Amino acid sequence: MTALLLPIFAVLIGFLIAIIFKPTVNSGIKLLLSFSGAFLLSTTIFEFLPEIYAVQNKEIGIYIIAGLLIQIILEFGSKGAEHGHIHQKDSKTFPWLLFVSLCIHALIEGFPVSENEHILYGIVVHKIPIAIIISSFLLLSKMKLWQSIIFILVFASMTPLGSFINQQAFILESYKTPINAFVVGVLLHVSTTILFESSKNHQFNASKLGVILLGFIIAYYL
Ligand SMILES: [Zn+2]
Ligand SMILES: [Zn+2]
Repeated sequence: MTALLLPIFAVLIGFLIAIIFKPTVNSGIKLLLSFSGAFLLSTTIFEFLPEIYAVQNKEIGIYIIAGLLIQIILEFGSKGAEHGHIHQKDSKTFPWLLFVSLCIHALIEGFPVSENEHILYGIVVHKIPIAIIISSFLLLSKMKLWQSIIFILVFASMTPLGSFINQQAFILESYKTPINAFVVGVLLHVSTTILFESSKNHQFNASKLGVILLGFIIAYYL
């Protein structure tokens, strides 16, 4: 049950922060984003990858690569919103392409969360800064408030929907490892992109490096 609720709370908290504090994407949010990237990457590497490779199956790597590829394709539509990269434009129309790509991304990452507590935490932490950034974008756009709310509510329900589908009987046990490997590919791409983009100008930033190290350490001892 927590696996279904926590991802929804994470998005709603992000939306509330965006409404109450009206943040532009400031250095505080960027730090939170860097932390979440490091945390998500290390929960994937420490917990999720070994679990997948414990199954003796040489082909499993192909599913990881497929996940990476899907994420690359999704980012053509989202322009990188799932890793905190958003382009402000004053459009009045509902951003369908952004919406659909983000929802597919959130659906995919929902699959493993009910069976892997560490990945659940990794994804919840990842969702908070992303929800703040997407909500700020929606609230600053010329869209109607109810449209932004529907966007956020549907987006928030996608990850629980993914874990719900994963629990259904037609998802056979033998499919689980390939599905998880596919999700690993998606998460590897998203988290490494967050870290990569957080040091874009390659200038030394002690607090950024600090929160990244903190993300690695907390994930290790979790
Ligand atoms: Zn980007
Ligand atoms: Zn994500």
